[in-house]
Amino acid sequence: MKLYDLTLTELRARLDNREVSSVDVTRAFLDRIAATDDKINAFITVCEAEALAAAKAADRRIAANEAGALTGIPIAVKDIFNTSGILTTCGSKILNNYIAPYDATVIARLKQQDAVILGKLNMDEFAMGSSNECTAFEPVHNPWNTDRVPGGSSGGSAASVAASQAIATLGTDTGGSVRQPAAHCGVVGLKPTYGRVSRYGVIAYASSLDQVGPLARNIGDCALLLQTVAGFDPADSTSVDIPVPDYSATLSEDITGLRIGLPKEYFIEGLDDDVRRAVDQAIATYRNLGAELVEVSLPHTDYAVAGYYLIATAEASSNLARYDGVRFGLRSAESDSLIDMYTRSRAEGFGIEVKRRIMLGTYALSSGYYDAYYLKAQKVRTLVRQDFTRVFEDVDVLLTPVAPTPAFPLGEKVDDPLQMYLSDIFTIPVNLAGTCAISLPCGFSDGGLPIGLQLIGKPFDEATILKTGYAFEQATEWHKKKAAL
Ligand code: GLN
Repeated sequence: MKLYDLTLTELRARLDNREVSSVDVTRAFLDRIAATDDKINAFITVCEAEALAAAKAADRRIAANEAGALTGIPIAVKDIFNTSGILTTCGSKILNNYIAPYDATVIARLKQQDAVILGKLNMDEFAMGSSNECTAFEPVHNPWNTDRVPGGSSGGSAASVAASQAIATLGTDTGGSVRQPAAHCGVVGLKPTYGRVSRYGVIAYASSLDQVGPLARNIGDCALLLQTVAGFDPADSTSVDIPVPDYSATLSEDITGLRIGLPKEYFIEGLDDDVRRAVDQAIATYRNLGAELVEVSLPHTDYAVAGYYLIATAEASSNLARYDGVRFGLRSAESDSLIDMYTRSRAEGFGIEVKRRIMLGTYALSSGYYDAYYLKAQKVRTLVRQDFTRVFEDVDVLLTPVAPTPAFPLGEKVDDPLQMYLSDIFTIPVNLAGTCAISLPCGFSDGGLPIGLQLIGKPFDEATILKTGYAFEQATEWHKKKAAL
């Protein structure tokens, strides 16, 4: 087996037995990236020198018997995280010259664990999108079929794991951006509860919804990466100061008698036949494993997408006001006054989808429309959250599809924003509610594209969705399938 095909757990054992060195492994991944990324385009920046230096340092730690869970493990990260001394673009032309002066907390935690950071991954600009086509750095291609999108906005984070360019990656999820690309690329992706992982140093899109999440080839690896990045951070006032359980310790717990809810609003008419078939099979698998499946209702699901696109754009219009060409990022060379400089820098630097959302959000917040749009959307958010609180009195986990269809062809929805927005219909309610969810592979379409299963958990109960996913993984082979590149 090739080094780049190992799981994190397998590689950990080989590093600790001194069968391989982190430098060898890092070299293998760098070569793999060089050999495949002309087809996939997952990386915006490859940090070859930094990665090899980190690998050397990791090998010294291993030799001194001081290795932690991630020591010497090659990871890559979405280009939304500030990484000290390294280009950090957020997929945007407006940040195409921005060298971050500090590390995001999650990056600092990876470095504390001696992980090797291979590079920065492509994404939809400012994490706005579902296909990774809205990037200033050319679209990412799905490793299972390079004519298809990888999903978004963490498209590079999902595609690079599927293409064996990194063992695991970090993405962010504001409305589905970890789970939906994980589903489309046949990997595991977890959105933690809001407040579980620090957002310090993560470039903001919609601050009340954004969360950092791990992507990996299987549940066990995903749990290890979550363990590293989770936990209270005094630098993020919205991070929550509660203990982080040992996720690996409970993975193989029995799920007999676990109550799994099937929300009827998620099994609707527009659901693709292949997706329905794969999810139905997953339900049957859980029944065989001894779980109890019950139909439940989340009655406000229909309003979630509309509510999200008002709240997220309103927050984005405020967060993106800082890109004015003054302190960092692109500055237009043509301007003849201060106001003109602001206007031109923003006009030249932002892409079309980002501009659309700034306008939508500014409109929703404007004095005459605030009550009708923004305030109404906040009320919708409360109702959606209450739906989840109510069903979680009765069930432990919810099971749903991740996306209504498998990965769609590149170019199909890029000129039709509404269709693009609707592809997040099953992931967005979780962000509005602030709770956690995981996407894991559960089958393939007739055309050979991966399909994802979503398990939604109670707030701060990532341990239960991980073990529920792990039980499925033990009973099936989907997570072992690899894209032929
Ligand atoms: N696709 C959704 C959007 O465009 C979600 C993006 C995300 O989670 N960052 O806003």
